[in-house]
Amino acid sequence: MRGQRLLLPGVLVGGMLLVALAGPLLPIADPVRQDVAGRLTLSSAAHWLGQDEFGRDVLSRLIIGARVSLSIAVVSTVLGAVVGTLLGIIGGYFRGLAEMVTMRTAEIVLCFPPLLLALLVVTLLGPGAATLILCLAIVFTPAFARVAYAATLSVRSLDYVTAQVALGKPAALILWRTLLPNIAPPLIVQLSLTVAAALLLESGLSFLGLGVVPPAPSWGLMIRGARTTMEHAPLLLLWPCLALTGAVLALNLLCDRLREVLDPRGSGSGRPGFLRIFPTLRTPSPNSAAPAGLLAVRGLTLEIAGPHGPVAVVRDVSLTLAAGETLALVGESGSGKTLTALTAIGLLPSTVRVVAGEILYTDRQGVARDLLRLPEKDLRRLRGKDLAMIFQDPSSSLNPLLRVGAHLEETLRAHHATGSLGARVVELLRQVGLPDPPRSAQLYPHELSGGQRQRVMIAAAVANHPRLLLADEPTTALDVTVQAQILELLAGLKQAEGGLGMLFVTHNLAVVARISDRVAVMYAGELVEEGPVAVVFAQPRHPYTAALIASTPEGDAERLTAIPGTVPQSWAMPPGCRFAPRCSMALPICDDGPPPVAMPAPGRSTRCLRWKEMA
Ligand code: SF4
Repeated sequence: MRGQRLLLPGVLVGGMLLVALAGPLLPIADPVRQDVAGRLTLSSAAHWLGQDEFGRDVLSRLIIGARVSLSIAVVSTVLGAVVGTLLGIIGGYFRGLAEMVTMRTAEIVLCFPPLLLALLVVTLLGPGAATLILCLAIVFTPAFARVAYAATLSVRSLDYVTAQVALGKPAALILWRTLLPNIAPPLIVQLSLTVAAALLLESGLSFLGLGVVPPAPSWGLMIRGARTTMEHAPLLLLWPCLALTGAVLALNLLCDRLREVLDPRGSGSGRPGFLRIFPTLRTPSPNSAAPAGLLAVRGLTLEIAGPHGPVAVVRDVSLTLAAGETLALVGESGSGKTLTALTAIGLLPSTVRVVAGEILYTDRQGVARDLLRLPEKDLRRLRGKDLAMIFQDPSSSLNPLLRVGAHLEETLRAHHATGSLGARVVELLRQVGLPDPPRSAQLYPHELSGGQRQRVMIAAAVANHPRLLLADEPTTALDVTVQAQILELLAGLKQAEGGLGMLFVTHNLAVVARISDRVAVMYAGELVEEGPVAVVFAQPRHPYTAALIASTPEGDAERLTAIPGTVPQSWAMPPGCRFAPRCSMALPICDDGPPPVAMPAPGRSTRCLRWKEMA
């Protein structure tokens, strides 16, 4: 259906190109042959659109001129689009030095007025079509670079791009299959505007004598010639102007329709294109002493730049996760739980810096590897295979331009699966409970419900049988019924995948009670209590844990107790216990310094001075 939308502009542009290309073969007059006796003649049987100031046939000059003008406009635009898009994507995606070099170069070119640039290039290379193409391509490149750069910046931070990195896909694949298709709409709009601008610029520069060299016809030269005789033969000006306007409108219409058709999120079914991303920084120095269990976070401290210097958003966090265990990381927003999980898989935002600690992961060979110091290429091999992640919002975690089956196939291929993967894809979709798996594989993400999208994300996460699953609030964006189904699915998968460890980030204690073996409570960037779920919930040893439990709705409880105050800003943390301003048990001694970690029992820890009084 959507293909029909291309019919009208396709016929218009196709017809125009066909006439232009077939021009030399058409039975028309020689466009450069002069007939002084017939100059400025109006329409006649031999010259349908009349003759110009040198007696040349206007119709043939219009047709052959279209060939010249369109070639220059299309070739220069495509050249500018390719180079500019490449610069913009590289700068926007890789940032840092790449961003500085590509975008500053584009800005320098942008500083030159097009006419001055044209004069410079023409002076150096001499006038002609090739010079004009080069000149226009240089002029157009910065605009494409800026559009691609801005679009890349807005897309690269979206969950579905991060999810591709988390699945261990190579940078080139992410750029080509995820990023480029998703930034295509503004680029297509830019393309249509640029072709139109190129037609006009070609005409303008040829008009000024800086473009196509007479007597070769072009629409610009025709306008230039007609200007001198417009008082006697105004129609000579009308024909090239009409051709120019019609071509610009047809091209704009085509690009507009193309943009709609290439985006499957519009009405109907469409077909997209291209790829995805790359890694994050880290320094070498791989293996360390073997930790107990699958994952051991030790003394992790993360900083961001604050108004008065660096501030610790996560401070001295240590926790362990055994194979086959589920550890829930809970806390209010801003407690640092998501940052802690993202650090493990190397997906920290560039504004956050690891200043201390180690994250030891025991791989399939039983070797402990510090994920914080693993070279990026080694970490990428682990992502999507050993380490997998499920994100909070399934609506933004899937590339909207890829069908469900393609998502899963790419995830499998990123870790060297070959051959036909259709059967494996269907099996995965069946495993996560999607209805009619073969049909579901053909759907786009927007054709699924929120719960179904999350099932697809889970299928992608477990596709390569990971050993550690990081789930960042995977049920928060779903309604309660679907939440329960997803939790059930995760529990079932964990059992089926034997030995799969899960770090489950959430703020929902009811979810914790349902899915976890142990719980680690975070507050203001610190881990304040850890232990088996049943024990911690029955007898919390930190006032914050107790307050969280008291503020959780349960059964037909009539009253909930809110925790007074808010989490302090990271740059204004209390000098002592970070929970002190909100703690009902606080004493002056609590402000003296950070409370030490106490171990009330084996496998339990708390960061409170008065934990004994909570027995
Ligand atoms: S150390 Fe003091 S202020 Fe902090 S949680 Fe314990 S009692 Fe409250």
